Amino acid sequence: APRVRFAPSPTGMFHVGGARSALYNWAVARQSGGTFVLRIEDTDAARNQPEWIDGIISALASIGISEQDPAFEGPYFQSRNADRHREAAAQLAAAGKAYHCDCTREQLKERTGSEHLGYDGFCRERGLAYEPGRALRFRTPDDGETVVVDLVRGKPAFPNASIEDFVIARGDGSPVFLLANVVDDLDEGITLVIRGEEHLSNTPKQQLLWEALGAKAPTWAHLPVIVNEKRQKLSKRRDKVALEDYLADGYLPAAMMNYLMLLGWGPGDDVELRPYEELEQRFRVEDVNTSPAFFDVKKLTAFNGEYIRALSPEAFVQACEPWLTAPAAPWTPEAFDPAVFASVAPLAQSRLTVLSEITTYVDFLFLAEPVFDEGSWNKAMKAGAAELLRDARSTLESAEWAAEPLKAAMEAVAAQHGLKLGKAQAPVRVAVMGRTVGLPLFESLEVLGRERVLARLDAAPR
Ligand code: GLU
Repeated sequence: APRVRFAPSPTGMFHVGGARSALYNWAVARQSGGTFVLRIEDTDAARNQPEWIDGIISALASIGISEQDPAFEGPYFQSRNADRHREAAAQLAAAGKAYHCDCTREQLKERTGSEHLGYDGFCRERGLAYEPGRALRFRTPDDGETVVVDLVRGKPAFPNASIEDFVIARGDGSPVFLLANVVDDLDEGITLVIRGEEHLSNTPKQQLLWEALGAKAPTWAHLPVIVNEKRQKLSKRRDKVALEDYLADGYLPAAMMNYLMLLGWGPGDDVELRPYEELEQRFRVEDVNTSPAFFDVKKLTAFNGEYIRALSPEAFVQACEPWLTAPAAPWTPEAFDPAVFASVAPLAQSRLTVLSEITTYVDFLFLAEPVFDEGSWNKAMKAGAAELLRDARSTLESAEWAAEPLKAAMEAVAAQHGLKLGKAQAPVRVAVMGRTVGLPLFESLEVLGRERVLARLDAAPR
């Protein structure tokens, strides 16, 4: 059974690209009785923060990758393996597979005439012993090529002549990331490395290190880059990339899991909306695409709307809870009435695409006055609106207070003004609810009650 791993560096919020890699690894492990190893690559002490580590673990749990699952192993911490990394560097040096080098960048540039040609092998046969300041370089083969077995990309071949004698330990003796990453994978018995495409160029070097350490290199799978609508690589400076941010905005974990599984892979039958468990069974890393995967927020949002509609009414109410009771909710806690909310919840459930929007759908029920949306106001309060509001008020005053008769009453007002119902109801809706979009008007009037509706029609500035 395969042993795969997810090896994030805890340097920031948990990226959706990381979430995709994690889910693909998780699927491979779970569908075959394999093991998913979580390794935190925390050797860059200056950039790592302990809170990011907790963030990774809870973000993984939110998309179903749970420490309690039998497929889960770890977390391991790269920083705790420092002795092993040094041991491996020493082993390579002792075997003559690596050598010490005291060349400065300036000397190299002087010799090769460029900063970009890579190391020229000057110290290869000098037999220098280690001294502080001398780096350790790996001796790469001069001829032939290094072929990596990549389940996504076939068998990319890298000419060895183009792989320089790269540094594996710095002048202070500390091993570099490239080596630490290999040693940990080796010690953790990893058989398949599924990771982002940005690591592909390091793969031949890593494969040479595996072989030099006397082990059989794993199989690799490099996942396509994720791009935004401008076809730029998704980046935290430009785009919303943190999984936590999507969850905080009211994207359901199940919708995220479904959508992320499709970023670079498809189940082959065009049925895109399906539960993770099913995608997990169907997933085949060999079928992952090489072309960039477009992170389509619109599509994700549409998925989320479908997942919201699929919730039971009780589950929907429960899912809204965090936004309804948050300190940031627009109303005071005393003004919020769960029973009133429950009565309109089904109307909201069929319309919402992200849960955080719930407050703007129902705030008119729990605030003394509606929040007037300026665009809606300008659109609805045109010439004639004042008369319309006055007539609506006097008709609604004596109407039976239920959605159907209220609608009939407004139809009469519309006819009186020679307007279609939609046009006639716009100023009423804005006066009472603050916006032209949201819950259906007549059900909303019913729930809000005669007294408050009439007061709002009176108060609407003319
Ligand atoms: N820690 C690396 C990263 O966050 C992962 C390297 C790998 O998967 O091999 O990009």
